[in-house]
Amino acid sequence: MKIAMLARNAKLYSHQRLKEAAEQRGHQLDIIDTLRCYMNIASRRPEVYYNGAKLEGYDAVIPRIGASVTFYGTAVLRQFEMMGVYPLNESVAIGRSRDKLRSMQLMARDGIGLPVTTFAHDAKQTEEVLKLAGEAPLVIKLLEGTQGLGVVLADTNRSAKSVFEAFRATNTNILIQEFIKEAGGTDIRAIVVGGKVIAAMKRTGAEGEFRSNLHRGGSAQVVKLSSEERATAIRAAKSMGLNACGVDMLRANHGPVIMEVNSSPGLEGVEKATGLDIAGKMIEFLEKNHSTGSTRTKGR
Ligand code: ADP
Ligand code: GLU
Repeated sequence: MKIAMLARNAKLYSHQRLKEAAEQRGHQLDIIDTLRCYMNIASRRPEVYYNGAKLEGYDAVIPRIGASVTFYGTAVLRQFEMMGVYPLNESVAIGRSRDKLRSMQLMARDGIGLPVTTFAHDAKQTEEVLKLAGEAPLVIKLLEGTQGLGVVLADTNRSAKSVFEAFRATNTNILIQEFIKEAGGTDIRAIVVGGKVIAAMKRTGAEGEFRSNLHRGGSAQVVKLSSEERATAIRAAKSMGLNACGVDMLRANHGPVIMEVNSSPGLEGVEKATGLDIAGKMIEFLEKNHSTGSTRTKGR
């Protein structure tokens, strides 16, 4: 196969590993800087250009589109889809998972376990929307946050109200969630590829930290999932329409609840924790599926 990988930083561990895994299996993988692509939206002749040349002859495309470039990145990916290049993840699926609210609505529709979550536009509804979420402690999060920044734990109803109002004043979108205390600062990340869980790890936050993000000083260990956790991760990936993703869950008393689904999961933590060749599994998924050309949406 000739594979294009849309990524900003060619040197990242995940990107190097995907290139290595592709080359080990006899494929060509070109790393293409997403933001340096430009395109011609011509009728029936979609084209993508890069460094003055038209990108042609690709069998598959691996989108590694960072959260901050979602808009332009999914547009470039969509253009590849219009050209009939098989994507590891489709632009529509990435768009769903990037929007925390939209993704939770879709997963709720599919009956997947989620923390109690409330959302409102107006500060006038502060009291009501907090009451709807339940009693403190509550978690208040920015809709556009990543890496655990913009996630705040409010211990009392009074602090929940102040945090909510402070966030509201900045005119950003905010979710309020029940705090899953029993998770104990640990979350589970399952890597799903082609409808199967191929690896899982648990991440535990630094001492005294309720957020388990590795970027916030958390540490990763291999973990064995229950069959319910496995099924939940697979259903979440399916609900988003993602072929390859990282599904973050918390272990709540009433079973697994989804935190988020990540369409470009980092590979370093999970490959090192599990010793598995996850990049290789993603390439093998493309080997099996690229020629069918059967994508669900082609950007629609
Ligand atoms: P981000 O997308 O920025 O990583 P998350 O919503 O995944 O934000 O939250 C970061 C971390 O904070 C989670 O991995 C989890 O450890 C903790 N956390 C988030 N929401 C809750 C919650 N409702 N209950 C308990 N812990 C939570
Ligand atoms: N093609 C639709 C869109 O771009 C898909 C909607 C959906 O997520 O189900 O929004």
